[in-house]
Amino acid sequence: EAAVRRAEKIKELNAFVTVTKDVAFDGAQQSNFRFSKGKPIGPLDGVPIAVKDNFCTQGVQTTCASRMLETFNPKYNATVVQNLLDAGAVLLGKCNMDEFAMGSGTVDSFCGPTKNIWRSKFDPSVQKQNASGDGPNSQDRHDWHIAGGSSGGCAVAVASGAVFAALGSDTGGSTRNPAAYCGLVGYKPTYGLLSRHGLIPLVNSMDVPAVLTRTVDDAILVLDTVAGWDAKDSTSIAIDERPACIVNDQNIQNICVGIPTEYHSPGLSEEVLEAWNIVADIFEHAGAKVIQVSLPHTPASIACYSVLNQCEVASNMARYDGIEFGLRSSESESSDELFASSRRKGFGEVVRSRILAGNYFLLQRNYTKYFVQALKVRRLIVNDFERVWSSGVDVLLTPTTLSDAPQYKDFIRLENQQQCVMQDYCTQPVNLAGCPAVSVPIKLSKNGLPISLQLIGKFSDDRMLLSVGRFIE
Ligand code: GLN
Repeated sequence: EAAVRRAEKIKELNAFVTVTKDVAFDGAQQSNFRFSKGKPIGPLDGVPIAVKDNFCTQGVQTTCASRMLETFNPKYNATVVQNLLDAGAVLLGKCNMDEFAMGSGTVDSFCGPTKNIWRSKFDPSVQKQNASGDGPNSQDRHDWHIAGGSSGGCAVAVASGAVFAALGSDTGGSTRNPAAYCGLVGYKPTYGLLSRHGLIPLVNSMDVPAVLTRTVDDAILVLDTVAGWDAKDSTSIAIDERPACIVNDQNIQNICVGIPTEYHSPGLSEEVLEAWNIVADIFEHAGAKVIQVSLPHTPASIACYSVLNQCEVASNMARYDGIEFGLRSSESESSDELFASSRRKGFGEVVRSRILAGNYFLLQRNYTKYFVQALKVRRLIVNDFERVWSSGVDVLLTPTTLSDAPQYKDFIRLENQQQCVMQDYCTQPVNLAGCPAVSVPIKLSKNGLPISLQLIGKFSDDRMLLSVGRFIE
């Protein structure tokens, strides 16, 4: 009840597409019953969680924040959702996101943007509230900060305390970015460690279900509940043991931390740079070896990611034709018109533009020049990581985002679009390589907003990554 009340209290932040109040009460009642019999069914018995609205949930509307799927009611649960439910977790709701997970702000959703729960200490409503001791005021009259995205609803749901944890998805940073802006831990597992079955695809070769929590230990608990091989996902990897169940205190003296030179990206704020230096020093004082390393192809990753993303998007979105899947337009006199008008009505501008760009890159005359070329650059980026790991580096320390959370009005300004894309500069290469990464909050900016850093681990070495994450949180 308290969790549902909390979800209602933060309604104006628009974190949820659907609050599954009845499902949650039902789950909680069953959990109470089990507890009364002395037999909790799993480590998350009765614990409220939320999932991004691109995970299929049986009998619960799953929209991808798109008009195209407004009435989609899946007949099955995504494997990771089922695993959470099997461990006793209670589904409190489905979270807002950028349409089909395309974006970094949770500003492109058919039900409106999600607002960050953090407000700048210079926000007049915060100052007034501090002076009067009143509760939170409506942010509508004032400038508010974005929650990040595309899993921004999940981040706000966790940061508000409505849920213990949320499952987001991460294709180019969509879990780490909102975690960073909302002061949370955002963990992107190794590609394949968590099943993608039932996660509506954006870019199949990069998508991973990911975890948002308040602490690294909470992320470990969720990871242990949801990870594992799944026959329904041909890219899922078999693991002999639970990936992170025994994260003993890592002996920091034995590790080597790499600082990649290329992550000093254009537009990196002074404050993020300062946090980066502070944590590098903390590692050094703890006895770790801290060295500069080079990942020379990093600057190419934004362009490489865009091409591959748009090509896979063009392919994935083809299924929404108004006949087999998705909204069906009633204004049509021919099949072609039906396809076109369904897609025009169902998809927002960002989705339509990516489909268009992807199809352009995949034209026979462009395929080698763009798609094949991008695959080659992807290989170079993967090789960069491999070289660094084989030189003895255990984890990389980088910024997560270039600054604290931007204001909505700045973020959506057309002339800032390139800068918004650049906010993914530090997160995207990891998805191209499939490595695990975790964003951990470090300090507050002068605005009073969270600043976070990212740790990147070796492919399949999530255990080491999270142990080190624990050290810096
Ligand atoms: N911002 C990136 C994009 O729009 C990443 C999205 C994601 O990780 N889902 O493609």
